[in-house]
Amino acid sequence: MYGLSAADEDIQARARAFADELIPFEVEAELAGGLPDDVTAAHKKRAIELGLFATNLPRDLGGGGCTTLQQVLVQEQVGRVTNALGWVAATPPSWFPPVATRDQLARYLLPTTRGEREECYAITEEGAGSDVDAIEATAYHDGDSWVLNGVKWHVTSFNTADYCFFQAKKTSYSQRPHGSIGGEHLLFLVDLPSPGVSVVRTPAYSHTISHHHPIVAFEDVRVPAANLVGAEGDGMLYSREWFRFERLMVAARCAGAAERLCAEMSAFAAGRVAGRVPIAAHGLVAGMLADSVTELFAARSLLYETARAIDRDQADVKTAHAQCSMAKLYCSEMAGRVADRAVQVFGGRGYMRENVAERFFRELRVERIWEGTSEIQRMIIARQLTTRGVSALA
Ligand SMILES: Cc1cc2nc3c(=O)[nH]c(=O)nc-3n(C[C@H](O)[C@H](O)[C@H](O)COP(=O)(O)OP(=O)(O)OC[C@H]3O[C@@H](n4cnc5c(N)ncnc54)[C@H](O)[C@@H]3O)c2cc1C
Repeated sequence: MYGLSAADEDIQARARAFADELIPFEVEAELAGGLPDDVTAAHKKRAIELGLFATNLPRDLGGGGCTTLQQVLVQEQVGRVTNALGWVAATPPSWFPPVATRDQLARYLLPTTRGEREECYAITEEGAGSDVDAIEATAYHDGDSWVLNGVKWHVTSFNTADYCFFQAKKTSYSQRPHGSIGGEHLLFLVDLPSPGVSVVRTPAYSHTISHHHPIVAFEDVRVPAANLVGAEGDGMLYSREWFRFERLMVAARCAGAAERLCAEMSAFAAGRVAGRVPIAAHGLVAGMLADSVTELFAARSLLYETARAIDRDQADVKTAHAQCSMAKLYCSEMAGRVADRAVQVFGGRGYMRENVAERFFRELRVERIWEGTSEIQRMIIARQLTTRGVSALA
């Protein structure tokens, strides 16, 4: 099915087997807010051994050198697991190598690719989410360092990360801290912990995972000039490139979640008897099953074709950008609908935290928000449609 090559099927099978190893840990993670560090470390080691780690980086940098389709196949399988346990099959920043200095490669990217260091992203602010250009964080040059100020929201994995990418606008000492409007975007590497970096608070979120998303203050944080990423003014470029990649991987994990939900709810519906017949024989339940697997097939076809198009033509970035948005939009909304139906099919059991449908029902909601909301994806898609025509996108 789907015309996968032998190599594609091989990595897909490895990822599927790995996901099946993680699934038994879900309820423990749900009830405890994550797994013990040594268990997570063992899972990460296993992901590395199985060749499921850093699939998005070239082999000469220690990565898996996988095609886009193969990266999708891996993320799809780990997406079948709840509680973010599949995040151990991590994908370090693939946009970074072309702009990283030798020193940045040695200190940040290569150890990350080996699984020794972990990154996080500090971009969003209280007043700047969808509109990244509205960030107020500042960076000014002082001798051979930069001084960073700002308060960042939702910094995922701050509690587990060894360094973060911090986005700010260039300003001067006299203009700080509110002189950033219209300034060039800059991206920095900040080691964690660093003097001046502190957690304001760690809010609770809908999902129950070991990765926190705290609000983090950066107050007069001094980093060496060598920690500026790429050229001044290019900060937004890197974020956009990362968004394109991450949106496709979000789509992949959503397809995996929907597959798991279709499998679990159909098995339950075939065995659960109500009114002396399996509930799957009731037309209203059968309709939910049929709609779910039909939407999964449509979503997966779109997802794989988007990945294949990127592998065929690396140069057509605009089409890739819009199609990744289409994949994220459709797969995340599809998975949300499937999770809602799955809760319904499971009935009262579907409302229990020990049930996979309940966990996915909460966990999948954010897939329509992070890495660009559904509304932002629609704006991107519509802009490309109106400027380049339907044949460019579909
Ligand atoms: C669990 C979680 C983890 C996250 N992790 C990170 C992280 O690690 N690093 C990081 O930097 N950020 C992170 N984020 C932030 C995330 O990327 C933003 O929440 C997201 O981009 C939306 O921004 P916002 O929350 O400010 O919403 P807003 O931008 O305020 O949007 C609110 C509503 O208005 C709509 N809207 C806004 N602008 C438009 C428009 N132009 N057209 C149509 N509708 C519009 C939105 O779609 C949305 O429905 C995370 C968020 C969450 C919830």
